[in-house]
Amino acid sequence: MNEYYKNLLPLIHTGFKNSIVQYTKIPSFSTETAFSCQAVNNQKIIIANTLTNSFWYTDDKKNVQLISNSKIIDDELFELIKSLFNIVSSQIRPPEKQVFGTDGETFYFEIFSKDGKSNTGKIWSPDKNSAMKKLTNISDDLYLLGAGANINSYIIKNKIKTLIIELKKISRTLPQLKKMTVLTENQVTELCIFIENQIEKNGCDHSLKNTFEWAERNEINKADLIDVLECNGGFCDCEVIMNLPENCSLEIESGNNEPDYKNPFKTPLNFQQTEHKVYTKALFSSSEYNNNNSYTKNGELLIPAPFGFKPKKRVRKSVHFFNGTESELPSEIGIVKEIIPTNGKEFAKKIRDFKLESLSKFSERDAEYYLSRIEKIEIGKPMGTYFMEITGIGGTKIDLKIHKVIFR
Ligand SMILES: [Zn+2]
Repeated sequence: MNEYYKNLLPLIHTGFKNSIVQYTKIPSFSTETAFSCQAVNNQKIIIANTLTNSFWYTDDKKNVQLISNSKIIDDELFELIKSLFNIVSSQIRPPEKQVFGTDGETFYFEIFSKDGKSNTGKIWSPDKNSAMKKLTNISDDLYLLGAGANINSYIIKNKIKTLIIELKKISRTLPQLKKMTVLTENQVTELCIFIENQIEKNGCDHSLKNTFEWAERNEINKADLIDVLECNGGFCDCEVIMNLPENCSLEIESGNNEPDYKNPFKTPLNFQQTEHKVYTKALFSSSEYNNNNSYTKNGELLIPAPFGFKPKKRVRKSVHFFNGTESELPSEIGIVKEIIPTNGKEFAKKIRDFKLESLSKFSERDAEYYLSRIEKIEIGKPMGTYFMEITGIGGTKIDLKIHKVIFR
C-alpha cells in the first residue's frame, strides 16, 4: 500500500471496530470522509469521521486533525444497511492491489461477514442513474446522518429498499464468474516451505525467482500464479511467505471476456459524437513509465485494446491496457501529446491503416470517444484505461474508460 493510504486510513478509520461496513470517500478537491456502521454493546451506531483539512492537499499531514461524530440508529436501519452491503459484497470482484487515483472521486467500501472476513470494493466516479451512483448517494446520506445532519432516516430506509430490489435484479443478469483453483491448500504450504529453505541460504533478491522455480517443477501455470500472488500481496519470494493466506486454496476468478463483435472497444453507448470536431491530442508511450507494465517502444501512438484481447505480454489482470500501434504490445500508461489536428474519421482510418489485428475495427465513433477523453487533459499527463465492469456492480454494462492517472 502506498504512503498516502497508509497514513490516511488509520486516521480516518479511528474508532471503527466490529463494523459491518466501512466506507471511505476520497473526493477530488475536498476533504476525505469515512463512516462505519457497527454494533457496540447492543447499540447500533454510525460513526462519521472527517478531517480538518484534505489529507491529500495538506503538505504537513501532522496538522490534519480528526473530526469524529456518531449517532445511534434503530434496528431496522441497521438490518437494511447490512442487507444492502451483503448484496454489494456478493457482486464485487477482488480489489486491485495497486491504487491509481483518477480525476474523479474514489469510493472504497469494506464489508465484513460474521467470521470477520472482509470484502473490499472500489468505485470510481460512477455514471449518473447507475446502481453504483445510488450506492454512493446512500452512503453519503449515512455519513451525514452519522455526522449529525438533519436527515430523515425514513427516506434513507426507502432508498435502501429500492436499491436492494434493483441490485437483486442485476445480480440475476450478471455473468457468472468461474472460479479456478491455482494452488491447493497443500501446494501453498509446499511452496512456502520450499521458498523458506531457499531464502535461508541465499536471502530474498526481491524477485519471484524461487517461486517460479517451484512452479516450474510442479507444472503450475506461471501467468495464473502471478495473478493469484499479486491479489494476495506476493510480489517477491519473501512476500509470498509473509502474505499468502494459510489454510485455504488460492483461486482466481475468470470473467466473461468474450470479444464484443458489435462494439469491440466497448465505447459507451451513451457517448454522443460531435460533428466536425477537430482534436489536437493523443496518447503515446513514454520510457518514463516503462516500469508500469509497458512493453511499447518509446513514442508509439497508443490505442486501447479491444475488450477480451489477450495482451501479447503480461499485464496485471486487474487493469486494461493500450496497444502500441507499431509493436501491438501492451502499455498500461500513455502520455498526452500534441498531434496534427485531426477529426475522428481521419484518425480512425489512420489507426486502421496500421493493419494490426487488434485495431482493424477501430471506428470513427471509437476514435471520437478516445480523442474527446484526451483533449481536455494537459500535455505530458499520464492516462490509463479500464472497463467499468471491473467494479462489478451496476449491471451487465461494460464501458471503456480513459482517465487521468495520478500516482499517489
Ligand atoms: Zn523479498
